[in-house]
Amino acid sequence: MRTAPNLDWPLFLCALVLGSAAPVGAQVTAIRAGRLVNPETGSTAANQVILIERGRFTAIGPGLAIPQGAEVIDLSDLTVLPGLVDAHNHLALTYKQVPENNVYYLTYVMESTPLRAIQAASNGIQMLTSGFTIVRDMGNNANYADAALRIAIEQGWIPGPTIINSGLIIGGMGGQFWPTPEMAVDKKIVYPEYLDADTPDEIVKAVRQNALFGARVIKICVDCKPWGYSVDEIGLFIKEAAKIGMKVEGHVQTVDGARRAITAGIWSIAHDRGLTDEMHKLMAQKGIWRAGTETPSSLTGHTTPERYAATVAGLKNAWENKVPLTFSTDADYYVPGKHRGEVAIEFVETWKAAGIPNADILRAMTINGYRVSETEKTRGPIAPGLIADLIAVRGNPLERIDALRDVRFVMKDGMVFKRDGVMVPERFFHGGPVNGWNIR
Ligand SMILES: [Zn+2]
Repeated sequence: MRTAPNLDWPLFLCALVLGSAAPVGAQVTAIRAGRLVNPETGSTAANQVILIERGRFTAIGPGLAIPQGAEVIDLSDLTVLPGLVDAHNHLALTYKQVPENNVYYLTYVMESTPLRAIQAASNGIQMLTSGFTIVRDMGNNANYADAALRIAIEQGWIPGPTIINSGLIIGGMGGQFWPTPEMAVDKKIVYPEYLDADTPDEIVKAVRQNALFGARVIKICVDCKPWGYSVDEIGLFIKEAAKIGMKVEGHVQTVDGARRAITAGIWSIAHDRGLTDEMHKLMAQKGIWRAGTETPSSLTGHTTPERYAATVAGLKNAWENKVPLTFSTDADYYVPGKHRGEVAIEFVETWKAAGIPNADILRAMTINGYRVSETEKTRGPIAPGLIADLIAVRGNPLERIDALRDVRFVMKDGMVFKRDGVMVPERFFHGGPVNGWNIR
């Protein structure tokens, strides 16, 4: 898509809705799928053929004729399904036991934006190899390293998931930090890990700043400080973001904060601490997405037995109340022996512990992920006309959700990224932009 040198606002809005264009290539690819899972219906179809051309699905069905000259990919031993979504991660942040004792205030002080952007590129690849084709990257990414990651992937420089990024997290003075006066006032240390906005004018300006620098969604701290944002202030965020076609996610950690966010009609709520049975009922009524970031007990040191029990009970309660559920991890730390994708997939443990049926876990990881990311009409489902992202595993995740732990095949934008369990990313590296020059 060509645009005039000045940012063309209607086209920019159009790009927001449509996502990046698929790469051009007339070659037809035909995938033979032994089993094809439809997470929407929770059903499996045997022996399907999936046709792909110019990066998009063109036809899906049993016994489709394979055009002459098509590249045939034989996945007849595997189960094919749409790509997974992590609805809450921070790819440009990895705090660690050594040297910072898992305190990310120190990570932020010690690691530069360029370094964290490179780390984000690596983390994105780690997520993609585990089958996550979409990641909502919700802030704590230094000085817009998340926007840089999204743009680099969209321009075809590196492989990675489709990134729905928030830019800087907007909060009242201090963000999620408790800085000293000399650090906060004299050194402005909170910026750019957080963007302070304490008045209506600052709220409007902060949303516009994030939009200008490449955010695709707005993330706010609803109650990171005891005063937090009021219903009216949250409403102002939602109104300003809507002008640019963006939704608002709230970091929520108290019941009061949850109530204010829900009353204001926020798009999604991150974290489960404030989400009681009453809040779940309100969320279900209003159709507010839950990105509960349910840390499993197997990730030692990142939850406690008491906290984990509350997390499992909360997730179960949310499911019973029919709250719209997404799979979300907040997996922004280093776990020795695991890459970022392996840490993220570990979160299915919590969902299993909550007794949620496999079909509903898979729905949260796919269909609901596309909806909360607002990509469901452009990418996600395996359907004609949509951009061709898919994965394949041994076994069937509808019968055993742990089948997702061993992703054997990944296709992104119609190109093979992983085959026979091995990354083959060569086609994902381009010297120049594949989707036009406009970096927004
Ligand atoms: Zn987070």
